Amino acid sequence: MTSFREFAETCQAIEKISSTIDTTSRVADLLRMVDVEELPIATHFIMSEVFPAWSGEQLGIGTSLLYVSLSRASGMPVKSIESLIRTTGDIGDTALLILKEKRKNQVTFSSFFEEHPELSITEVYNRFKVASEASGKGSQDIKIKNLQFLFNSSTPREAKYISRLALEELRIGVGEGVVRDAIAKAFSVPADVVEHAFMVTNDLGIVAATAKEGGVEALEHLGIEINRPIRMMLSQISPDIVADIKEMKEAAIEWKFDGARVQVHKTGNSVTLFSRKLENVTNSLPDLVEIIRKHVKAESAILDGEAVAVNENGKPRAFQEILKRFRRKYDVEEKALGSPIQLNLFDIMYLNGKTLIDLPLIERRKSLESCVESSVEDSKSICVDKQVITGDLELIEKIYKEALEAGHEGVMVKNPNSFYSPGKRGKNWLKKKPLMETLDLVVVGAEWGFGRRANLIGSYTVACYDPETLRYLQVGKVGTGLTDDQLKELTEMLSGLMEGGEAGGVFAIRPKIVLEIAFEEIQKSPNYDSGFALRFPRFIRIRDDKDPEEADTIQRIGKVYSQQLKRL
Ligand code: ATP
Repeated sequence: MTSFREFAETCQAIEKISSTIDTTSRVADLLRMVDVEELPIATHFIMSEVFPAWSGEQLGIGTSLLYVSLSRASGMPVKSIESLIRTTGDIGDTALLILKEKRKNQVTFSSFFEEHPELSITEVYNRFKVASEASGKGSQDIKIKNLQFLFNSSTPREAKYISRLALEELRIGVGEGVVRDAIAKAFSVPADVVEHAFMVTNDLGIVAATAKEGGVEALEHLGIEINRPIRMMLSQISPDIVADIKEMKEAAIEWKFDGARVQVHKTGNSVTLFSRKLENVTNSLPDLVEIIRKHVKAESAILDGEAVAVNENGKPRAFQEILKRFRRKYDVEEKALGSPIQLNLFDIMYLNGKTLIDLPLIERRKSLESCVESSVEDSKSICVDKQVITGDLELIEKIYKEALEAGHEGVMVKNPNSFYSPGKRGKNWLKKKPLMETLDLVVVGAEWGFGRRANLIGSYTVACYDPETLRYLQVGKVGTGLTDDQLKELTEMLSGLMEGGEAGGVFAIRPKIVLEIAFEEIQKSPNYDSGFALRFPRFIRIRDDKDPEEADTIQRIGKVYSQQLKRL
């Protein structure tokens, strides 16, 4: 069993390191030290995760719950904890101080000799799991008791990392890239083999344990599994689409639907649906499950597509309509479903026991067409996205115009010979749509409104992501473009994410929510830590199909800024 003390020591050491190479070495040391059985836990923990993202399990511990647990474990009132956090700016450092203080006051004869058994990482994981699974009446109490137990059994230093882990932010800058390299280093396996294993399993915990146990050979045998979602292949805007099409010679042109991405897993009669963020959204979409059961003729399959909300005539409705459907958390009665859904399938990754991602798109396409059955009457609810393979630029332009006229977003231009690359954004999938530059940014701060909107959060500080330092860098404040309903919805979403206290009505928000923001111009500015500021930022929509790490990066902001200069 690996003690949590050893894990905390690794975190502490990494916190003091600035080079990625040294960080990778420390993570590799940790992975080498941990037993195979505990490796999945350690691997996720070090990336600030308790459960793998694909599992759909949510830890669901908010700051207030954490403060109460710390308060019960230490005897310090919640109010004092909150004010300490305002000074330290961090839950981990606060927990460390509180527990040190408690120890000082507690050095009595009996407590001096009272030895706590060492906490193992498995024990920490199990307590988190019990807390996450508690639901309904009495669940708060169960969550608090389990956290309190962890704080009572930990040293101050362990408590620092337990509390950060409870909020899934260790603040040590270890992300997937570092862990991938660390697995290769720790178990002497090539980085590309680790990468491929990660792409098909979508779980570095499984990859680490497999690498330790069976090396390269075992990693190469890892495959796609039904009900374990695969990362979505992504697209990019081409700076020169004509040149890219010429390079491909012929391109596969498909309509680009503006809805929500769905990954369908079907085995026998059972259907599971995953969103772009790989959340299990099956319960929100029972009508879609029925459609798939009826029309996908395969013993087992994994399919990729876009779900669109449509009106009675099968015409697409606004993007926001479909996301409303995805947001429903619980089983929905058929009659309360809201807009009907149309599923447009465009790819297949697995069919009847065979992995298809290493086949060219044209081959996958044949398999897709072979297993989706839709008659004219059903084509309103399910269809395979039309695809034309051509190098004729005029024809491509014509299809593009038709797509826009039919109310879609544009077209996708795909390389017919390309493999399905999970999680990759590259030249093999290009998007062509009317240009309206927007940015997807993360809310990191907020302010209460005033007057009629005094009870609502009225202004949001938004930030871009820096994948190198894993930090969020502020670029501006948004307060326009929102309706009262949207303000209400965002106020609800953000109230559980407030961090620390308010200073003059402004408070920090844990980076979780992504907003799409339009703007007039990007300017250089000393007012924000990104060094940039948005001029006239305007809210477009909530992107709850995106994780904060998928927000636009500081590099993209820099790029848009310099493109602007060229335009002037
Ligand atoms: P980004 O990650 O760049 O912000 P986004 O989520 O805003 O992307 P786009 O990159 O504009 O989306 O377009 C890619 C998305 O388009 C896919 O994730 C998918 O949801 C959708 N889409 C619609 N039709 C297709 C299609 N035929 N093939 C692939 N993707 C499609």
